[in-house]
Amino acid sequence: MWQVVGQDRVISLLQRSLERGMLAHAYLLVGPPHVGKMTLALNLAQALNCEAAERPCGKCVSCEKIAAAGHADVQIISLAPGENAAEAKPQAEISIDRIREIQHSASLPPFEGRYKVFIIDGAEFLSVEAANCLLKTLEEPADKVVFILLTANEHLLLTTVVSRCQRLELIPLSASEMETVLSSRWGIEPPKAKLLARLSRGCLGWALSAALNDGLLQQRAEKLDRLLEVARSDNEERFAYAAQLAAQFAQNRGAVQEVLALWLDWWRDLLLVKIGCQDMVTNVDRADTLVEMAKGYSPAQIRHFIASIQAAGEQLRQNANPRLVLEVLMLDMPGKEGRGGESPAARVSVKNG
Ligand SMILES: [Zn+2]
Repeated sequence: MWQVVGQDRVISLLQRSLERGMLAHAYLLVGPPHVGKMTLALNLAQALNCEAAERPCGKCVSCEKIAAAGHADVQIISLAPGENAAEAKPQAEISIDRIREIQHSASLPPFEGRYKVFIIDGAEFLSVEAANCLLKTLEEPADKVVFILLTANEHLLLTTVVSRCQRLELIPLSASEMETVLSSRWGIEPPKAKLLARLSRGCLGWALSAALNDGLLQQRAEKLDRLLEVARSDNEERFAYAAQLAAQFAQNRGAVQEVLALWLDWWRDLLLVKIGCQDMVTNVDRADTLVEMAKGYSPAQIRHFIASIQAAGEQLRQNANPRLVLEVLMLDMPGKEGRGGESPAARVSVKNG
């Protein structure tokens, strides 16, 4: 059976293609991190090579080998070991040599299964040369070869590559669907299921890793504590925090974007509390703190800072100077010495002048 949860539309489309033998030579699975792209890709590889009548069965030798990453005809190509897409440094990429290797492999017939399947995880990390090289293969598809490209950032892929693939979009689950799945299928107790459902933004993979590994929730708790500390502190401490984040950004962009996502959730929660929608907050385990903190701000101040956090995230994605962006964000934060309301540009010029 298909292991992916909540992607019924995509699964029924693939199921129909399998039944009719009308498969694409290349698929592009699009969706946020941990939404289930790799699970679906492996399921499709299983379905293509499964020995049972109901494919994928998950139990035959072929299905088991694929699940254990031990099938000779199913290869996963990703960033170098130790790097993953969510934490990748800007210069990280999948090299042309890796693509040449798979081109060679794709030219040979399947070794033990019916189809050769190449899963490219983090397809946005293909170097330009690698993507162009892959394009040639996609333009002249070989029989019994299926490429599955996975990406969380479709806009970073060459449009020529995208146009050669059948695009399938994976949609995050709603918080209530996720809560139900976590308690009914994985037996997670209700309060934790509720918290994980909200924090995971609909991505089951994240919720399950957090359920199995307390470290993730612990890290979140530490980051939230730091956030609250910074919100209560003066500009000097806020700048020290900005400098610390900027230094971290040079090492790991994804981690800093995660911190900003946490901030965004927190300030959106404050706004929800402010407008009387407390039952919709993400940080359900900190409801009392949210209520207390929301008393200190006007809805306009909160909205202004939410826009600032979004702007900072966007500027960092566009390679603006991280230290400057984060210092402006600190100045935008309402609170002890913050002067929320002025335009960030005005404040940068004051600071530099
Ligand atoms: Zn099977």
